[in-house]
Amino acid sequence: MAWTWYDSTIIKIEDESPTTKRFWVEVKDVEKIDFQAGQFVTMDLPIHEKRLKRWRSYSIANHPDGTNILEFCIVLLEGGAATEYLFNEATIGTPIRFKGPSGTFVLPSEIKDDLVLICTGTGIAPFRSMVWDLYHQNKEHKNIHLIMGTRYQEGILYQQELEELKTKLSNFSYSIALSREENIEGEDFYKGYVHQIYEAAYKEVRSDVHFYLCGWSNMIDDAVAKLIVELGYDKSQVHYELYG
Ligand SMILES: Cc1cc2nc3c(=O)[nH]c(=O)nc-3n(C[C@H](O)[C@H](O)[C@H](O)COP(=O)(O)OP(=O)(O)OC[C@H]3O[C@@H](n4cnc5c(N)ncnc54)[C@H](O)[C@@H]3O)c2cc1C
Repeated sequence: MAWTWYDSTIIKIEDESPTTKRFWVEVKDVEKIDFQAGQFVTMDLPIHEKRLKRWRSYSIANHPDGTNILEFCIVLLEGGAATEYLFNEATIGTPIRFKGPSGTFVLPSEIKDDLVLICTGTGIAPFRSMVWDLYHQNKEHKNIHLIMGTRYQEGILYQQELEELKTKLSNFSYSIALSREENIEGEDFYKGYVHQIYEAAYKEVRSDVHFYLCGWSNMIDDAVAKLIVELGYDKSQVHYELYG
């Protein structure tokens, strides 16, 4: 398959947490960029001589809004070639070449079942795109439960929007697992890991629920094993996007 490569320019960068930034790029020579909520792009960053060693994928964090602007939510990995470049060298006006959008981590065109969206850290990016897409398209859906895990309160991403979504998007709820925070307040916050939340809430196996997981292998491997092997969900009910 021939890839479409796009040239874009960084137009805005904002801190979202002490280790996470939001990057906005404007794509050149097109009025709008088509994608499905949940998809990612693969950037060719100037971090290595060899082409394949320069490529890094990032989920599109905004919903498809008919413009040529894309948002990414990226966490700094100490010693990571791409993220150190993006955090320390990239600035407003820096060109970003990317291919895509690609990927099949998207919601079905007709949503007939409850959705449980489980993520750690920047794994929230495709889910943010999906839930705002449901809202803006006024798309029919059942219950949507977003479960996000991070270490401390300060690591929660898009927190204000999650509150906003509770009032704007019907049947939307969220739970946040904080693994290292000592003082936990608020009905949506739990001490521990994402696993404890879905294990308690979806203990009784149902055929009308689908789990979407996004993040790094430490969380995804455990969640897939817990949902399928321990709880007994069918593997067709578990979908995931692995960041690495
Ligand atoms: C489809 C897809 C979508 C992605 N979307 C996002 C996104 O929206 N936001 C985002 O921040 N990242 C995302 N990633 C991860 C991203 O592509 C890079 O792997 C990440 O930014 C690290 O790149 P680096 O060059 O800085 O580190 P590298 O030098 O490439 O990383 C070295 C090693 O660290 C591991 N690693 C990287 N980050 C973490 C982490 N946080 N926790 C544990 N291990 C880690 C990698 O798997 C790798 O083994 C996505 C990955 C994929 C495959």
